[in-house]
Amino acid sequence: MDESARVVVPWDLDRLSAKRLRAVYTALQSFAARLLEWGEEVPSCWYAPGHQVHRFAALLYWFERVNRPRTLVLDPETGKERIDPAASARDAAEWFASPWGLTGMRDVWRQKGCKAGRDVHGDEPTPSLEQVIRQHAVRNARRQRPASPSSAENRQ
Ligand SMILES: [Zn+2]
Repeated sequence: MDESARVVVPWDLDRLSAKRLRAVYTALQSFAARLLEWGEEVPSCWYAPGHQVHRFAALLYWFERVNRPRTLVLDPETGKERIDPAASARDAAEWFASPWGLTGMRDVWRQKGCKAGRDVHGDEPTPSLEQVIRQHAVRNARRQRPASPSSAENRQ
């Protein structure tokens, strides 16, 4: 199968084009601000390498899934639209409390010792978000160079 024909999910950060990558980081920035508003601990350097930004992206899209399901279904009984039955309060609760949800993400951040409102990440000054996005986009571009024909044949 042609790799380039596959759909790339937005939380697969390493496969995104520079434009989509920037859009996801921007969405994560808003999401981090929102979590802070809720009183959650989010380190100021959440986007820095080592903070599992890939996991944070998955968490964001999972949050979207449990809170804003895209699929509306027509209830044949009432003739009214209702939300996708796959979206449940339990899913939303799991998003918060499970080790693979926000609780687990907080543990990762806590282990790094980084905090909100600090401009230090480890022993270094926190890189700017802009710097991190650009470096990530460069890595992605390198990775997305077309494979040599021999490696494509091997995949068949
Ligand atoms: Zn940090």
